[in-house]
Amino acid sequence: MFDFHMHSRVSFDGRASGMEMALAAKKAGLKEICFTDHLDYDPTGKMQNIAFDTAVYNAEYDSLHVDGLTIRRGVEFGMAPDNQARFRADLQRRPFDFVLGSVHFVDGMDVYFSEFFSGKTALQAQRRYLEATLACVRAQEDYDVLAHLTYISKAGGNPDPSPIRYEDHRLLLDEILKTLAARGKGLELNTSGMDRCGDYLPPADYFVRFRELGGRIVTVGSDAHSPTRVGQYSREACALLKDIFGYVCTFQGREPIFHTL
Ligand SMILES: [Zn+2]
Ligand SMILES: [Zn+2]
Repeated sequence: MFDFHMHSRVSFDGRASGMEMALAAKKAGLKEICFTDHLDYDPTGKMQNIAFDTAVYNAEYDSLHVDGLTIRRGVEFGMAPDNQARFRADLQRRPFDFVLGSVHFVDGMDVYFSEFFSGKTALQAQRRYLEATLACVRAQEDYDVLAHLTYISKAGGNPDPSPIRYEDHRLLLDEILKTLAARGKGLELNTSGMDRCGDYLPPADYFVRFRELGGRIVTVGSDAHSPTRVGQYSREACALLKDIFGYVCTFQGREPIFHTL
């Protein structure tokens, strides 16, 4: 089993050490994990240091080793339509195995909070989020896999935290998935929505459609920020991908590895 999305104390919103997270992964029966600490740029000016310090990152992970567990070093990049140059420069900080691309900020707002949902119906908020995501996947190149598509379903400030139905935004979602497939980018099955909105981010039918549109690369991630969540629902997520793709991917040195399930 695999978990390719987790945060230690290297991330501004993590508390556990890399070793605590890795030991939790081993205990959960995982074979391979990847740390994906935040490299995000806050357009609101309200948050500080949401991009990790490279010296702290290196000190946490460079000598980290747990017998029987493969540990990769990655990053979760906060995409915006206009921050590719900045990110490209930051990617030179050190070599990474894996780059997740995420959309956390839209129209100058952190979509986790209620400000983004204010004055919008549920469908309007979803649409605006997906439009911004499409703009990002069209503008950006330097990532491997799109993280937690439909992320706003689990946002604390979302008054309607239910899964986003594919049929409500078919044209827009098809464009996002087609763009990913055509550019050789992957789609993450993020399990962190299960407890908050009762489904994966995104739900299973998105992966069926991704495959139909030519998508090949799929990963599984818990988005754990604490040891108790490492590997949560990973087994169920892999079973789902087994039915749709027959495999799941991990990454080493920015290259996908296909694991037959
Ligand atoms: Zn994220
Ligand atoms: Zn994350």
